[in-house]
Amino acid sequence: MPILEKLAQPSQARHWTDSIPLEFHYTAGVAGEEFRRELRDNGRFLVSKCSKCKSTYIPARMYCPSCFIEMKDQFPIDKRGYVYSFTSVNRDRSGADTELPVTVGLVKFEGVKGGIVHLLDVDDPDGVSIGMKVTPSLKNASERTGAITDILAFKPVSTGPSKMTAEVERAERWEVGAGENQARSLLHSIEESGYPIEEDEMTISTLRNKIGKGELLTREEDGLLHRLGDKAREWRKAVKSSSETEPTDTLSG
Ligand SMILES: [Zn+2]
Repeated sequence: MPILEKLAQPSQARHWTDSIPLEFHYTAGVAGEEFRRELRDNGRFLVSKCSKCKSTYIPARMYCPSCFIEMKDQFPIDKRGYVYSFTSVNRDRSGADTELPVTVGLVKFEGVKGGIVHLLDVDDPDGVSIGMKVTPSLKNASERTGAITDILAFKPVSTGPSKMTAEVERAERWEVGAGENQARSLLHSIEESGYPIEEDEMTISTLRNKIGKGELLTREEDGLLHRLGDKAREWRKAVKSSSETEPTDTLSG
C-alpha cells in the first residue's frame, strides 16, 4: 500500500517486523585522517600551514579557508593549549542529571587557528578561567584508535603560581589600585568643578556607582570619564577667567 494512501478501515493496517541493512563509513577526509593517525600513533596534534597567508590550522585540513589553496605543509605542534571558552553541563544527552557537573571547553593553541572542543579535567568549574593553560591527557598508545576520544580530557597545567606570575599579579594589582584612585579623583574634580552635568547625569551616576563599589571601569567608561574630566577642566578655566575679568569689561553698551 502506498504510504500516502489513507486507511478507510482499521483492519487494512498491517505491519512487518524486519530490518533494513544499512552500512556506512564515516571518513574524516584526507587531512582529518592524517590528524587522527598522528594522534593514534604518536600522540601528537597535527596542524596544516598555508604557504600563502602563513596561517596554521588545527586540526590539520586540506585547504586554507582564506586563500582556497591546498595546504601541503603539515607538522605536529606542542600540545599545550589554553582555554578559549568553556561551559559547565549538568545534564547528559538524555536530559538526566549528571552526578557531577561536566566542564567542556574550546582549547586553542598559541598562534594556531581553530581549536579542539573537549572535556576539561577539573573538579570544580569555578576553578576554570579563560586563558588557563591546559595539556591533554591521552589514552595509552595501545588503546588509541584514532578517535577524538583518544584524548581523555585537557587538564590544567601546574596550579601553583610561579614567581613570575606572582610578580605580574602584584604589578597588575598595583595598576588597578592606581587606576581606581585616578578614577576617584577625576570624578571628584568633575563634581567639584560645578560643571553643569545635567545631560551627562546618567553617565556620571553610573560611573559614581561603579567607582564607589570599587569596580573596574570598562575601557569605554574610562574614556568617557576622562572626556568629562576634560570638559570640567575647561569649564573651571572659563569660570575662573570670567571672574577675573572686570565687570565693566563685560557690560554691554
Ligand atoms: Zn591561506
